[in-house]
Amino acid sequence: MHPLEKFKFCPVCGSANWTEHNFKSKACGDCGFVYYANPCAATAAFILNSRNEMLVARRAKEPAKGTLDLVGGFVDMGETIEEGMRREILEETGLEVDGIRYLFSTPNQYLYSGMYIHTLDADFVVRVADDVKPQAADDAADCLWIPVEDVDPAEFGLTSIRRAVERFLAERLWEQY
Ligand SMILES: [Zn+2]
Repeated sequence: MHPLEKFKFCPVCGSANWTEHNFKSKACGDCGFVYYANPCAATAAFILNSRNEMLVARRAKEPAKGTLDLVGGFVDMGETIEEGMRREILEETGLEVDGIRYLFSTPNQYLYSGMYIHTLDADFVVRVADDVKPQAADDAADCLWIPVEDVDPAEFGLTSIRRAVERFLAERLWEQY
């Protein structure tokens, strides 16, 4: 499906002469306006303590409400992706972290408001002290520590997050950071 399928009219002049320009854009045949859909930058964190327990969140909101999730979210305009990652960790767990390390990226489509939003998650890993006390807030209903060897990707409701967890476990990436 074209990413702008739901946009039926030119957002500038309101013309219905608003058609596919290429696989990710539409153009207006009347006023000449062209609009490109690009992936939204997002972040996800593998937060580990020294006992190799992983901090995961339970989703407070749809989509996939109630399933497990990694801490993270969309990057704001004007923010670096690292700033976005640290801000989401602070908002959802109350933890101020240092030394986040980039791992890999995961593309996804995220159904929101009846529309598939194309996203690109940057996945990070960070080590925290064993005595930190995360406080779930914002998009996280709860925070829980799970020994990394016991983490089950099937419990993660968002596809890109599940794929990232599968990759993290398959490559045993916690052993490298
Ligand atoms: Zn127009």
